[in-house]
Amino acid sequence: MLNGLMMNTPLSLIEVLEYGAQVHPHAEIVSVRTEGDLHRQSYRRTLQRVAQLAHALVALGVRPGDRIGTLAWNGHRHVELYYAIAGLGAVCHTINPRLPADQMAYIVNHAGDSLLFFDTTFAPLVAGLRADFPAHTRYVAMTDFAHLPDGDDLLCYETLLQGQPEHYPWPDLDENAACALCYTSGTTGVPKGALYSHRSCLLQALFSTVCSNGVMKAGDRLLPVVPMFHVNAWGLPYAAPLTGGSLIMPGPALDGASLFALMDNEQVTGAWGVPTVWMGLLAEMDQQGRKPAVLERVVIGGSAPPASMITRFEKDYGLDVMQGWGMTEMNPTGSMSILTREEAALPVQERIKLKNNQGRRLFGVRMKLIGDDGATVPQDGQASGELYVKGPTVISAYYNNDEASAKSFDDDGWLATGDMARITDDGLLFIVDRAKDLIKSGGEWISSIDLENLAAAYPAVQECAVIGVPHPKWDERPLLVVVARPGANLDKTALLEHMAGGFARWQLPDEVIVVDELPHTATGKVSKLTLRETYARHLSDAH
Ligand code: ADP
Repeated sequence: MLNGLMMNTPLSLIEVLEYGAQVHPHAEIVSVRTEGDLHRQSYRRTLQRVAQLAHALVALGVRPGDRIGTLAWNGHRHVELYYAIAGLGAVCHTINPRLPADQMAYIVNHAGDSLLFFDTTFAPLVAGLRADFPAHTRYVAMTDFAHLPDGDDLLCYETLLQGQPEHYPWPDLDENAACALCYTSGTTGVPKGALYSHRSCLLQALFSTVCSNGVMKAGDRLLPVVPMFHVNAWGLPYAAPLTGGSLIMPGPALDGASLFALMDNEQVTGAWGVPTVWMGLLAEMDQQGRKPAVLERVVIGGSAPPASMITRFEKDYGLDVMQGWGMTEMNPTGSMSILTREEAALPVQERIKLKNNQGRRLFGVRMKLIGDDGATVPQDGQASGELYVKGPTVISAYYNNDEASAKSFDDDGWLATGDMARITDDGLLFIVDRAKDLIKSGGEWISSIDLENLAAAYPAVQECAVIGVPHPKWDERPLLVVVARPGANLDKTALLEHMAGGFARWQLPDEVIVVDELPHTATGKVSKLTLRETYARHLSDAH
């Protein structure tokens, strides 16, 4: 082999912020803070504060490789932690505050966090769990001295930064050095840690911006509703300074009305989140009879958005919907639904049809489908199989978890996603269902996503989920659990009639159950596990 004669400078995250600070000096981070104010700061100022934070972290004894926990909303201090910790070669371990207490205690101990930074919202949570966290962990409240919660040994974020130099001599790091740690929400079994590197985060930021048809441009104002504790807010805190977009951070205010007002006031052009939060925004848009002032685009990921949601955003409000598919283990995006210029010019109904799938893979994410017999399934748009992925933004193992790692990869090092999928020969990805959510009825498979899509299109349905529950004769049968739209009169028979148009009779749910609220996981998705547990005996008892 003949090596190229090129400089081998490592990909480093601090350079992303340095780049944003120099090249996009007018871009900013706007944050709804727990102090109750709205704070603005340029990337240039952010870089100075990141340097101050780095000095403070070193003074607290932080060394390369140390794990530092955060329990925080989306805001400028959280962004500062991302960059300062990574810049020092340490690891920012973002903790999902919605995790059950036992899982949170498990991951803080498993990660061995030496410091834990938390937003004041979470002061009671931290106080309650401290006895279960490692003895050596120290705690920093992410606020100023005036708002410091009670607690003798609490450190104060703003006090730590005060008087520190605004420059830091960032060390040269190997691009494979770890920079961030995120645990899966552990819907089954204990949470598993995905340990990202500078290289993987930077490549993901590059691939996802390059392959998403200009979804981010200099001057855009981007609102990540997706939390920074969920796979680095899908990489937006890295992608925004790279492209010159501003970050509009909603803090704890994630309801439809607050998001709408923030989008209006801050001239938000694009927003990212899971389907559940968009339901709240849609309700607010209906209430006000308009979209937020300059909003152009909504990116939906984390679970399949119902086709009716895409339709409402596009048709009723003229917004461009982009769907993304990915997972914690993929840093996180694997595919995005982008249209060509010609496709984007099609009439709305045709455009929506093209968007009702998980889009095309990002560069760098290789995909293969494996059938029940272990053989590769053709990518012909017809056959489905379990989706396996490989590439520089995919984990190669779980953090300190040999058992989980041994189960999740095949002999060639591909990661099993647990998703059943079809891929067309021109690269369109259709997630059929999570393997564990597919319903096996009398030897035939039924996709819960397909049934949900149809149910969600029924006007009286606000939110819904389809689960498979044990059945004495058919093994499993689908059950439809529905939340009715406020004020709507939900007629179960009419709903099933509506669904009959799209499915064979045997595929339709055996029963419709109306509830006030669906259970959600820590990442805001409908928790089908909880529903399956709740209704496990529903059909067997009935027979
Ligand atoms: P968790 O398992 O804790 O929910 P992730 O947030 O990493 O963790 O979820 C990844 C999974 O979410 C994927 O494997 C897939 O099943 C589902 N998912 C994500 N995006 C989509 C999408 N656009 N359509 C369908 N399913 C999706």
